[in-house]
Amino acid sequence: MFDELIRAAEELDGKHEIDIPVPLDAKRYYDRQCPSSSCRDLFKVQFDDWSNKVLEDGAICPFCGYKAPADEWNTSEQARYFESVAEEEMHRLVNEAFGEAVRRTKPRQISGGLFDVKMSLSYEPGQPASVVSIEASSVLRQDFVCEECQCRYASIGASFFCPACGHNSATSCFDNTMDTIKKTIAALPEMRESFEKDRDADFARDAIRQILEDQLPRIVGAFERINEALFQKLPNSSEFSWKGSVFQRLDEASTLWKEASGKGYTDILGDEELQQLKLMFQRRHVLSHRQGVVDQVYIDRSGDVGYAVGQRLVVADSDVTNLVAIVEKLVAGLRGFQSFWAYTLGGT
Ligand SMILES: [Zn+2]
Ligand SMILES: [Zn+2]
Repeated sequence: MFDELIRAAEELDGKHEIDIPVPLDAKRYYDRQCPSSSCRDLFKVQFDDWSNKVLEDGAICPFCGYKAPADEWNTSEQARYFESVAEEEMHRLVNEAFGEAVRRTKPRQISGGLFDVKMSLSYEPGQPASVVSIEASSVLRQDFVCEECQCRYASIGASFFCPACGHNSATSCFDNTMDTIKKTIAALPEMRESFEKDRDADFARDAIRQILEDQLPRIVGAFERINEALFQKLPNSSEFSWKGSVFQRLDEASTLWKEASGKGYTDILGDEELQQLKLMFQRRHVLSHRQGVVDQVYIDRSGDVGYAVGQRLVVADSDVTNLVAIVEKLVAGLRGFQSFWAYTLGGT
């Protein structure tokens, strides 16, 4: 009787492979979770691209850039699911071994182990655990195609690296981020209504305020990154030493562009637009670093007389929409600088 068990145990010794159906969403995207304990963010990769483009020795987190072997990216739900299927399979194998043993063993010879045999034989495969997909309203989902390797992936909000090749997709990320922000603002009345229905008016007001405040850092972050990416593409960019944070300081950033390309922000935006941009960048700073509470530094730098020290900033829908429009106009202009260079270098 024990021979079969030993054989079954040997089969289970790291060599037994089983096919487990992989749960995918309607677009055949596969939920993934960053294994880095400081990130654990969720994203999706088109399943064929995950199988064919992500190399065995490493996938890359689109948010934090962490690299780990391809088999370490299961979400907690998937890990539980795969474990339960593996356990089920182990039960089945042990079951088979016991079944074989029982068939070949006369009942009177079973002693002591009968309880185990009974338990094992009465095992019924359970329903596979259902895997909860990333809960993302289609409004907030962003789909990406890597410019370098064409890997298709998706995330909630902006992401920065291709999970297959690590390509830094700041350019397409900027467009997607602006798009999502516009959709988010458009969806606010609907969100407010559903928050009021599910919770109450206080919760709805707080949640909507939080969503509005979150958009300013997102816009500024995407703006910085697209500036870095576009600036690096200038053929003479290596002649300039600069740090990423320079693109938060609009006057300095404009001067840097002017030195490198002959044109700055003032060549793209009108005075009023530039003033509005600077004001919103200052407000973003207060929201990110002072929880929105106005201090004298803010008033001095922004010239905003609408607030007194100690008051809290209020972000309106129109502030976000206007900022997106200005930033999009500016970035379109900066992209034009690129084609200017391509043209003057002889259309290369
Ligand atoms: Zn990560
Ligand atoms: Zn890629």
